[in-house]
Amino acid sequence: MKLTNFIDGNWQEVGEVDYTAVVNPANGQHLAEVRMSTKNDVDQAVAAAVKAQKKWALVPAPKRADYLYEIGRLMKEKKEHLAQVLTKEMGKVIEEGRGEVQEGIDMAFYMAGEGRRLFGETTPSELADKFAMSVRAPIGVVGLITPWNFPVAIATWKSFPAIVAGNTFIWKPATETPMMAYEMAKIFQEAGLPAGVANVVFGSGSEVGTAMIEHPDVKVISFTGSTETGRKVAELGGRHLKKVSLEMGGKNAVIVMDDADLSLAVEGILWSAFGTAGQRCTACSRVIVHKDVKKELENLLLTQMEQLTIGDGLDESVKIGPVINKNALEKIHSYTKIGQDEGAKLLVGGEILEEGKLAGGNYYAPTLFTDVTPKMRIAQEEIFGPVVSLIEVGSLEEAIEVNNGVKFGLSSSIFSRDVNKIFRAQRDLDTGIVYVNAGTTGAEIHLPFGGTKGTGNGHRDSGVAALDVYTEWKSIYVDFSGKLQRAQIDTE
Ligand code: NAD
Repeated sequence: MKLTNFIDGNWQEVGEVDYTAVVNPANGQHLAEVRMSTKNDVDQAVAAAVKAQKKWALVPAPKRADYLYEIGRLMKEKKEHLAQVLTKEMGKVIEEGRGEVQEGIDMAFYMAGEGRRLFGETTPSELADKFAMSVRAPIGVVGLITPWNFPVAIATWKSFPAIVAGNTFIWKPATETPMMAYEMAKIFQEAGLPAGVANVVFGSGSEVGTAMIEHPDVKVISFTGSTETGRKVAELGGRHLKKVSLEMGGKNAVIVMDDADLSLAVEGILWSAFGTAGQRCTACSRVIVHKDVKKELENLLLTQMEQLTIGDGLDESVKIGPVINKNALEKIHSYTKIGQDEGAKLLVGGEILEEGKLAGGNYYAPTLFTDVTPKMRIAQEEIFGPVVSLIEVGSLEEAIEVNNGVKFGLSSSIFSRDVNKIFRAQRDLDTGIVYVNAGTTGAEIHLPFGGTKGTGNGHRDSGVAALDVYTEWKSIYVDFSGKLQRAQIDTE
């Protein structure tokens, strides 16, 4: 199967352009081929989106929302199929695949509700017989650039608020996971979304991403991916005076205090560290543990890690699937050596798995390091795999300092039974998301999603906050006094 672009409500001809293979990370199976689009393809998509946006902005927002209700309904109807495609091309276990599709469904219905809200403000004027209000106005054509680790959810966090607010979009999914985008484009078409409102252009970041950012008619770029790429996107976007929303990497920690429910903490750590094979932006990759419970926690983790089944995510009994590709596998493995060279103690894992049923896939053994110090590279850099570092501390203050002592600020968590410690922690942890007595993952779509420092640039996906990325505030003053009234001057 050859995946072509969806532009102006049509599927592009296969044509004489380059295609690249889409591979199942669980077994190396060839799944499809995807178009490596050119700048010319981007230009066509932008032209279609510009044309469509003028009409789309005039469609009443509740009517725009009706399309989202239909998209949500179709996603619900096809949920199992979408989850299967997701697991095949990305590797996460099927239960998590279903969860991710559900996140997209939730987003569709939530943002459809915004069609009847999109609240602005009305406020008194300082002058008599004058009325003041602010409304959200669409910005125009938006460019969406998404990563492979959440191939559908992240796209819904961006595209659904964009269209309910009256924008049109061009979506460039990651090269590793185009099949989900292809499925979503089919759903946009089936839902009857007017031509040009939703466009999907496949291809590399350097060619398609750059062309989108540089195009003068693309007004907003919403990017999720690594901090390294995000910096390039921001630099180029800045040069072209684009509004750029960035959601980037993380180095998330679970804090376990001496009064914590340790079995609960272990469950939270395993789920957030090894789910999606550690490839969530919110994955727990550091456990900051109070010295009095360190040994006990270590033992509990080791016992529980033995139960983790590894394999093809389509097998319902498997808990940990493959990582995305061979490059990722090598990068993860290089950190095992880095950790050992730095003096951290490898308790378990630290190896590529390729025996028996795992042959042909990209599997890494769940890995636990202990005696890690906060400044070691394994405690500072995003590894993006099933690798956890245990760092010992002596107090809550020290735990918070260690948590905050990295360049990222996405998610953090604290396990404790002491309400005072919990409230101090939620105030002082410098991350966009804080969990109490739960791991570092588990975001819900109606709250803002994003991070501080190297994780973001102040914008948020998800929740009502997402609308801020895709709208401009317009302030409107209506003077019905029939005379000139000057603000700040004619106020007496
Ligand atoms: P990546 O940065 O390699 O790629 C992300 C997207 O950017 C892809 O579509 C890619 O093709 C595109 N891209 C690459 N170079 C580009 C360029 N020069 N110009 C424009 N676009 C370009 O990231 P990835 O490996 O796909 O995803 C993993 C990363 O994403 C991790 O760092 C993870 O933490 C992060 N992530 C963050 C969040 C969040 O919300 N904070 C969520 C998920 C993933």
